[in-house]
Amino acid sequence: MQTDYAELVRRTIRSVPDWPKPGVVFRDITPVLQDPRTFRALIDLFVYRYMRQRLDLVAGIDARGFIIGSVLAYELNLGFVPVRKQGKLPYRTVAEPYSLEYGNSAVEIHTDAVRTGQRVLLVDDLIATGGTMMAAVKLLQRLGANVVEAATIIDLPDLGGSANIATTGTPLYSICRYD
Ligand code: AMP
Repeated sequence: MQTDYAELVRRTIRSVPDWPKPGVVFRDITPVLQDPRTFRALIDLFVYRYMRQRLDLVAGIDARGFIIGSVLAYELNLGFVPVRKQGKLPYRTVAEPYSLEYGNSAVEIHTDAVRTGQRVLLVDDLIATGGTMMAAVKLLQRLGANVVEAATIIDLPDLGGSANIATTGTPLYSICRYD
């Protein structure tokens, strides 16, 4: 079942060449969200993996990580925490900078979003270089969280993110990969 669901998700993801710039193949998950059977297959894959794990929170990365992460948190009966791009959260925040291909960015979280020792599952749609995911892991760890696993729909291993995150000791789970 797991393999069938993962295959359904993989073949429903739309690959858009040269977007947002020449040379990039954008992996678009909107067709997965749009189709109820595939959306359910996607969420069920994550639910089956995490339903027997002791978790306290799901954290989702801005913005597609919010879509999957909040549904997953609801299904697992857990709270949800947004990890946002800088400047979006209204209360006291901590930020973690990371490098992009051109320039820098940062992710931010409310200081009271996580308590020391809480077991957190971190979710995003895709890992490429891993910069975003690693910054989010660091941010959660700075607040004392135990990041049990980082989960993503898509891994692009050629861009090195999954290898980078492996060096941090945080396990990474992905549903499908594009080599
Ligand atoms: P990175 O920090 O390089 O691992 O990039 C991951 C973030 O950028 C994720 O939040 C993705 O949504 C987005 N992203 C990077 N590359 C792609 C791609 N080829 N297709 C879709 N989203 C991407």
